[in-house]
Amino acid sequence: MRTPFIAGNWKMNKTISEGEQFIDSLGDLPAEDEVESAICAPFIHLPSLLEKAQHLNLGIGAENAHYEDSGAFTGEVSAAMLGDLGVDYVIIGHSERREHFNETDGTVNKKTHAVLDKNMIPIVCVGESDAEREAGDHASVVESQIEKAFDGIPAESAGKVVVAYEPIWAIGTGKSATSEDANEMCGVIRKKVASLYGNETAAAVRIQYGGSVKPANIGEYMGQEHIDGALVGGASLEPEDFMALLEGA
Ligand code: 13P
Repeated sequence: MRTPFIAGNWKMNKTISEGEQFIDSLGDLPAEDEVESAICAPFIHLPSLLEKAQHLNLGIGAENAHYEDSGAFTGEVSAAMLGDLGVDYVIIGHSERREHFNETDGTVNKKTHAVLDKNMIPIVCVGESDAEREAGDHASVVESQIEKAFDGIPAESAGKVVVAYEPIWAIGTGKSATSEDANEMCGVIRKKVASLYGNETAAAVRIQYGGSVKPANIGEYMGQEHIDGALVGGASLEPEDFMALLEGA
């Protein structure tokens, strides 16, 4: 059985003290074997969040990482640095990074390798645009993103990867995918992973849905066969909402 996994993606929000207040305001988190939970935050938050979350069942993640360990990459932070800091997860290839920061399937693949190499868990984001869905290409677009993200990842690591299916048209729009549509696409992803690595690995990979998830709809998604959790933007910013999402999972 796959443990449900709820991760918040704070995106470019909160000051360090607001981040600390968030952790201080969380209630009792569910036990590790019930729900895995994480907050992914801007780099500057990571040291204080890691310290605050030390004795909590709450993982801490970054929102991006560079694949080279070090070098002349002004403004970047490497997976090696994040691993050294003790970060648990790294979001890779979020659609906002693909759109605004020229991330490609190629860089997503390199980053996925780097994050696994440093013993962290990548949360690899895939998802189609509105136009691609309208054209009926959503399944093939996402299958191709999965194939390229996993290129060269050895079978023993593939099962550790978390995939987040985030249709671009559902992010921050309030227009969430129906739980049936989201499940269908998570099923497409699982089948693709099975074709690459076999059924056992596909059954182990956790697949999250992301896009306008909130306390009111988390239950519907979690009731679906292929949806193992959620990657949540807006509704992860308030401790009450985040606690309600964990409750709903
Ligand atoms: P929202 O939950 O704000 O729609 O954002 C989803 C997302 O992009 C999570 O990575």
